[in-house]
Amino acid sequence: MLPGTNQEIVNPFDLKSYLDVYYIVILPNLFLYSSIIFGVVTFTRNVYVGFVSVILIVIIEGLLQGLSSNPDNRFLAALLDPSGNSAVAYYTRYWTVSEQNELYLPLGELLIYNRLIITSLGLITLFSIYKAFSFSQNAFTFSFSKKDSKRMIKNNFGGITKVNLPKITIDFSFKNDIKKLWDLSNIDFLFIVKSWPFIIIVIISLLINLVGLSELGNVFGTPTYPRTWKMLQAGVTFTLFINICTFLYAGNLLHRSRVANVNQLIDTTPTPNWILLGSKFLAIIKMQLILVSLVMISGILFQIYNGYYDFEIGHYLYELIGLSMISYVIWALLAFLIQTLITDRYVGLFIMILLFIGIPLLGAAGVEQSIFKYNAGTGYAYSDMNGYGSSLNRYFLYKIYWLSLGLAFYILAYLFYFRGLPSNFKERISIANSRFKGKYPKFLALFMLIFLSSGGYIYYETNILNERTSSKERELQTVEWEKKYKKYENYDQPRIVSVKVDVNLFPKTLDADASGTYVMVNKTSNVIDSLFLNHGSSISTFKFNKETDLVLEDTLYNFDIYKLKQALNPGDSINLFFTVKNKPNTMIRNNSSVVSNGTFLNNSAFPSFGYPGGELRDDKTREKYDLPPNKLKPFPSDSTALGNTYISKDADWIDFEATVSTSKDQIAIAPGYLQKEWIEGDRRYFNYKMDSKILNFYAFNSGKYEVAKDKWNDVNLEIYYHKDHDYNLDRMMKGMKAALDYCSTNFSPYQHKQLRIIEFPRTAGGFAQSFPNTVPFSEDIGFIAKVDDSEEGGNDYSFFVTVHEVAHQWWAHQVIGADVLGSTMLSESLSEYVSLKVIEQVNGKKKMRKFLKRSLDEYLTSRTFERKRENALMYNDGQGYIHYQKGSLIFYALSDYIGEKTLNNALSKYVKKVAFQEPPYTTSIDMVNHVKEVTPDSLNYLIKDMFETITLYQNRVVETKSKKLDNGKYQVDMNLKSVSIEIMKREEYFTEKKKEIQLLIKLMI
Ligand SMILES: [Zn+2]
Repeated sequence: MLPGTNQEIVNPFDLKSYLDVYYIVILPNLFLYSSIIFGVVTFTRNVYVGFVSVILIVIIEGLLQGLSSNPDNRFLAALLDPSGNSAVAYYTRYWTVSEQNELYLPLGELLIYNRLIITSLGLITLFSIYKAFSFSQNAFTFSFSKKDSKRMIKNNFGGITKVNLPKITIDFSFKNDIKKLWDLSNIDFLFIVKSWPFIIIVIISLLINLVGLSELGNVFGTPTYPRTWKMLQAGVTFTLFINICTFLYAGNLLHRSRVANVNQLIDTTPTPNWILLGSKFLAIIKMQLILVSLVMISGILFQIYNGYYDFEIGHYLYELIGLSMISYVIWALLAFLIQTLITDRYVGLFIMILLFIGIPLLGAAGVEQSIFKYNAGTGYAYSDMNGYGSSLNRYFLYKIYWLSLGLAFYILAYLFYFRGLPSNFKERISIANSRFKGKYPKFLALFMLIFLSSGGYIYYETNILNERTSSKERELQTVEWEKKYKKYENYDQPRIVSVKVDVNLFPKTLDADASGTYVMVNKTSNVIDSLFLNHGSSISTFKFNKETDLVLEDTLYNFDIYKLKQALNPGDSINLFFTVKNKPNTMIRNNSSVVSNGTFLNNSAFPSFGYPGGELRDDKTREKYDLPPNKLKPFPSDSTALGNTYISKDADWIDFEATVSTSKDQIAIAPGYLQKEWIEGDRRYFNYKMDSKILNFYAFNSGKYEVAKDKWNDVNLEIYYHKDHDYNLDRMMKGMKAALDYCSTNFSPYQHKQLRIIEFPRTAGGFAQSFPNTVPFSEDIGFIAKVDDSEEGGNDYSFFVTVHEVAHQWWAHQVIGADVLGSTMLSESLSEYVSLKVIEQVNGKKKMRKFLKRSLDEYLTSRTFERKRENALMYNDGQGYIHYQKGSLIFYALSDYIGEKTLNNALSKYVKKVAFQEPPYTTSIDMVNHVKEVTPDSLNYLIKDMFETITLYQNRVVETKSKKLDNGKYQVDMNLKSVSIEIMKREEYFTEKKKEIQLLIKLMI
């Protein structure tokens, strides 16, 4: 057993598992791959081409495996994938953790066929090589114009002719040196672009890019409009190839003359070293430019192919040449040093690849800071709304730091440049010493100065100005936090009943400040003597309208304890007046979530009361620190646990008013209705007030928005969107109306008079979230979707996501579950159910299959990663794959079994009972009871299978017989077999209970 291995999660050694993999998977693969590469190298006489073919094979494998993400393609992928992985996955895809632990590699039919195909392909390849091989000296070449291979006999005996040699003048001017540098670099550049490995790499990277482009942003089978940032994002696949080419050709160019044995000739020319080295470097830069321009060319071609003509050439050039090139150049500088110091270019290449792969992995070895990892640092992210935001300052600072080090490396490369016949390294050092004069020491000093000062600044900011905690320290802090403060978890606290805030957003300086008043009431039957105030790390002040003593102020965890001079009696109220503002922003760090266009922040920046949780979840780690195993949330049957909703621990329903200010050219939005809007100086103010009770859950948005307006009955519908993103406004409006229609007809009236969707930048996340009458919506999740309404088209997710979010106005904002297991079934599963039903109305039942199939696949796949937290739907622990995928399947199926009307009537009755209720809050048990009431006895097993247990069905058609009848119709006889598998949980692992069952199944032929 390796030291450090967690023995409890490792099975005992079992030779068969290893041998199976070796004989069934590895051996046939090795046979095929090595015969292909043997063939390639034999015919091209070029090791590099062999090396590149390895990469090509890996990529083809990746593509074929990518095929299997769509369930319909899995059979084909399993048959053809040369690695056999797709065939294995065909059988093991849905294996749970315990099955993965206990079962052997399944030798299914498909796997056998796949292995047979692979082995015979290997044999065919070897045989063809044998047949085609000839002992000719020249490599196998393709040529379109057949050369005449007539033997030339030179006539050297035709007498002596006088040749006038041209008179040579040597020009040593700087201008001529530059020209020489340029000309030489062109020769090297042509050498690169004409070589096989380069051509093959270009073809491969274009192919991968093409696949990447066509798969890009594919959500629910629907692509997005090919915005330029999307094209650039797909181009990231080139990064690896550009770097590999850089490492490869840095070595090839530096050692080129020696490999060709003309080095002594070249070394005797009067060309100075800086030109010889510089021309090679310049050739590499030219090669990099060619490769990055391929990103632009393929991007634009793809855009044209898709009928999209909004080319942002400036954006392409800026990102490719202004941003990404710096990074490639920094790698090239290091590659030149390594390839100069090391005399064997293969070793040099190997070292560079090792560094390239190894440096990012240093984090795992405890080196977490970017300034210790060559060419590391923060990246950049683009959004149509907000451009590169504030990410560029950080990016450039780190790049200046690494570029200066890289340039210093380049000077070293110059000093050690290989010329003449130095015999050993000692000699090379003395040569380097003799070259280190003139301007070189000055340049080296300059670059080191920039390197150290920018590095010093980064270090100062990340380590001294802001305290930096390593992941280990953070883990320790989490442990200490729990040990120190968990004891206050069950102390009674007053509940917030009213929130009134003034929020000022400054999109130009990226700052925000706010002040506000909470009114809080002691809703318990006990007196409250202490307040546990929990706030973020921003600069804040707190003032209560009753006398208090600050008895504990923890600046590490931002947790304060106030003792009330006079205890708060049941029913008494207390006000908190607070101010918060972000710490000043610096070059590297933005301490507010404000962005220059499209700010989206929520109330988590404001103070809250009580112990908020946030403990370590992994039991093994907890054990290490003597913490008891992490408990799941309480069961819904636990009547003492129903005091809080899962949204908020310190409030039930609140009154809400907010005044939000922003710069003059932006619109600011908060939940509620606009009461007043005014301009003061260069600031624009908006006062919003809500006229009914809402959850303590609100957000603020600000941006330069266009507004689309519509109406549904008396409800005002608005979409605040970025000016170029008007593609799907109709679909979203339609979605709002459809959801409002469906929910108000089937459940209860809509509680607001207005409904707004507000776009925010993708850099803040790719989701949509429902706040009271307000739905912030990422630019990424519908605004730029390119929906195809035809039968083959994917799902219209701008419509679908809108419906889901609007349904939350009922399922979360009217009915909200207690903070116990299963509560997300009441919000997420039911919102998802509503959207399925609404889509069904629009698209018809037939198209639903596509969607449901995907959900089933996702549920079955995600559960295989679960070790112990999978529960039945009504006891789920908030996992997405249960409350979205499984939940939606179950409610949709249920509506089929008992009838949509019947189910909705039960839900409507449930809504009437529990909407806007005060604690104790409702649970999934209550909801399922409402469903049980309307379910006929014959279907009682469904409730158990769907909600109360984890049960899977295995339905198979065992045999079919069909015969043509006289009336032209067919009679089809089928023999079906259904097995239900109930998954039982026992301690850590799951076991299965199988039984043959009687099921009601609808068949379509
Ligand atoms: Zn949701």
